[in-house]
Amino acid sequence: MKQRAARRRSRLFGLLRAFRDAAAALPDALVAIDGHQHILWFNAAAGRLFGLLYPQHLDQRLGDVVALPGFIEWIEAGGVDALADVAAPGDPDVHLSLRLIPYAEDHALLLGRDISQVLRLEKVRRDFVANVSHELRTPLTVVHGYLDLIEPEQIPEFESILRELRNQSRRMTQIVEDLLTLSRLDAEETLPETRVAMGPLLRTLQRDADGLSRGRHAITIELDGEHDLRGSPKDLYSAFSNLVSNAVRYTPVGGSITIGWHSGPQGGRLGVRDTGHGISPQHLPRLTERFYRVSTSRSRESGGTGLGLSIVKHVLQLHDAHLDVASEVGVGSSFTCIFGAERLLQPEILAEEI
Ligand code: ADP
Repeated sequence: MKQRAARRRSRLFGLLRAFRDAAAALPDALVAIDGHQHILWFNAAAGRLFGLLYPQHLDQRLGDVVALPGFIEWIEAGGVDALADVAAPGDPDVHLSLRLIPYAEDHALLLGRDISQVLRLEKVRRDFVANVSHELRTPLTVVHGYLDLIEPEQIPEFESILRELRNQSRRMTQIVEDLLTLSRLDAEETLPETRVAMGPLLRTLQRDADGLSRGRHAITIELDGEHDLRGSPKDLYSAFSNLVSNAVRYTPVGGSITIGWHSGPQGGRLGVRDTGHGISPQHLPRLTERFYRVSTSRSRESGGTGLGLSIVKHVLQLHDAHLDVASEVGVGSSFTCIFGAERLLQPEILAEEI
């Protein structure tokens, strides 16, 4: 009996050592902590990336020895969402994605994954798109410029070809401009912030919609709340006018479009509602992906680039806001930009009102 128990114990120890050796050899940083965040164990990668020393840091509180902004608060909140892209305290050239994985009763495993290579590749992709778009801009401007010099009516035998050439070169120019806008927004962490007066902005959007629609739709504005927005006027205008242009392009003649701004203590909502074709539910989660279109032909015919909603998403992210889409096929769509209360500004009191 005794011998069998000893054999089993030694087998268990062997197994435990093998697990520890395997975990120690992982390239990802691993730190086991108890319910009071005391360090129970860590592997070699955690030592290197978090700057942990063995055995000095064992039994120390993780938050006291790992110096990362917002780290303690993140752990105390249970580390529910991954903490993406943090510079490793032990090696600032390495970028980590952190996750907290609960195990046993109240223990947790801190997992730090080196994502430097992924981020580098992402930057290469971004730079490539920006460079290609930039390089295409000049030749396209030249082609477009020459095409504009020729009046199709002057050469009747090529009239339809010339018109098609003009359309396509205009489309290409728009795609390149949209890609450049996206590259700029991608590279930006913050945007310039000033007062965006919502009353005048809504009236400009209505004028734009009227210009695009040329009397084919009923276009109204709703202004409910006096607040303005704090943000980048140019980018917010670009996002909202994308929604307005979509509403006009995807609403058949005779339909109606409402552009509304509602603000209150909870925050602000800029909504564009239409009685257009609508979108079936399976497309809704993918609408803001680059070049995602519900119907490629309908988008092309209406002069779309497939990048509009992607721009909207990026602009809103940079304003700590998000897009909500509700739609029903054959009934219409409603695109709402939702801003937190911290983005609202009280109305400006003009000198003559004092
Ligand atoms: P596009 O330039 O093709 O309009 P967007 O990124 O602006 O690209 O929109 C993506 C797709 O979402 C569109 O191709 C269209 O299918 C759909 N969509 C966007 N807005 C509306 C709308 N108001 N009504 C119906 N479909 C829409």
